[in-house]
This record gives sequence, structure tokens and C-alpha cells, in this order.
Amino acid sequence: GDPAGSVLKAQDLVKSFGAFKAVDGVSINVQDRSLHALIGPNGAGKTTAFNLMTGMLTPDSGNVTLAGQQVAGLSAGRIAGMGMGRSFQITSLFPDLSVEENIRLAIQAEDPLRMNPWLRAEGIDRINDKARQILTWVGLAGMERAKASSLSYGGQRLLDLGLALANHPRVLLADEPLAGLSVAERERVGDLIKQVSADIPVLLVEHDIDRVFNLADHVTVMNEGRVLLDGTVAEARASDAVREIYIGS
Ligand code: ADP
Repeated sequence: GDPAGSVLKAQDLVKSFGAFKAVDGVSINVQDRSLHALIGPNGAGKTTAFNLMTGMLTPDSGNVTLAGQQVAGLSAGRIAGMGMGRSFQITSLFPDLSVEENIRLAIQAEDPLRMNPWLRAEGIDRINDKARQILTWVGLAGMERAKASSLSYGGQRLLDLGLALANHPRVLLADEPLAGLSVAERERVGDLIKQVSADIPVLLVEHDIDRVFNLADHVTVMNEGRVLLDGTVAEARASDAVREIYIGS
């Protein structure tokens, strides 16, 4: 059976593009209440591994389970519906709608109450409460009426995090959430991700190794399509092999 507390588990994933094996037998085990970072130099296969877990790509072989359910081979939409949250895409925002409308849509898409006219009035109150809660949480309270497209890049990322959280994911996957942000925004988004991970485990793909070492609990280091190290931040920090691949890249 699964080790206690394992939420997202990838086993022996393999993915080739033509003759090139981008991911070659990768296993990743994301535990409950952890901030798990997937790091490695450019071309290591991180994004490919990430896409194999979210269903954006189908593995040639290997297994992915989310809360014990098989997800490998299912569509990305289906996997998202089973609780695989992806954040910081920005592409999931409706740019011409307001911040609040974006959040309300995400809550309603998830909320079965919208289907029940008897519960509708109560449902609307609940949606308003929840929207307010999420916007406060991601630091966008006061920006409710702003068009999504009028937010700064960092603001749009925060809104996208709000959309992902509105769906009650079992796990949150974030591919380079800090890329392209200002120093202050990186600080803010990093803190939020850390907070989220207390409730919802987070798998984070990130290039900034210093930032990862300050935020993460657990680290999987990839190099050339394989897992070079899987362990605690302290173990990754102490590893000569990890230092070498970063210096070499
Ligand atoms: P990382 O995210 O660690 O930088 P990627 O997963 O993006 O690495 O890429 C790993 C390797 O696979 C790279 O050499 C990349 O060029 C190759 N690759 C990724 N996607 C494709 C694709 N769709 N077709 C061909 N090669 C790809």
C-alpha cells in the first residue's frame, strides 16, 4: 500500500520524444503537508515530468496516483477534476472579467449547489463569503473590481493561485511560480506557497535553488532525465553531486 500521507505518487515514469528519453524512470512521492520542490538544471526533464503528472503528457510507461487513484493516461481536465490543482498559469484567467468575477466563476464551477434552485440563495451567500476569503488570502482584497488584465504580472499570478484554491485541490502543482516576478512579489508568492503547503501539499518546479532551499521541506533533484537525489533540503544542500550539476550548468 501507499506510505502514510502520500498524496501524489509518480512511479518509474518514462517519456521519450523521438529517440530522446526526456524522462527516464522518475519516481516522485509528494507527502501530505509538504512543500516538495522538483529542481535540476535546464533540460533535466522537470517540466516533462510535471506534465506527465498533470496529464498534459501521457507517459510511455509508469504510474501516477492521486490520493490513491490512478490518473496516468487520463485527460488533464479529468485529472484536474480529481483534485490535481495547477497554478500560476495565468492562461486560466478571464482577462476581461474583474478579479471578483474570476474567483466567483472558479468557485461556481466547483460548487454543486449552483445546480440546486432551493439552495441557491444560501449558495450565493456562501460563494460571496468564499470569494472574499480567497481574495483576502491571496492579498487581492480591495482589487475586486479591477479587470484581471489590469493587474501586474505578479497580481495575475496571485489571482491564478486564488482560482486554483477555489477548486479545493488535493495537491497544488506550480511550474516556476516565481519566474518573472519582482523581488517583492517573489517574497510574497513564496510566503503564500509556504502557507498553502500547510493545508495542501505543493509540488513546485523552480530554478532558483537558494529560494527552494529556503522554502521547501523535501527536494527531488533531476539531471538528464533521472532522479539524482531525493531527500530533505539539508541532504540536497550537503550533496556534492547536486552542487556539481548546478555549477556545471
Ligand atoms: P526542464 O524543465 O528540466 O528544463 P524539460 O522537461 O523541459 O526540462 O526538457 C527535457 C528535455 O526534453 C530537453 O532536452 C528538451 O529539449 C526535451 N524536450 C522537452 N519537450 C520536448 C518535446 N515536446 N519534443 C522534443 N523534445 C522535448
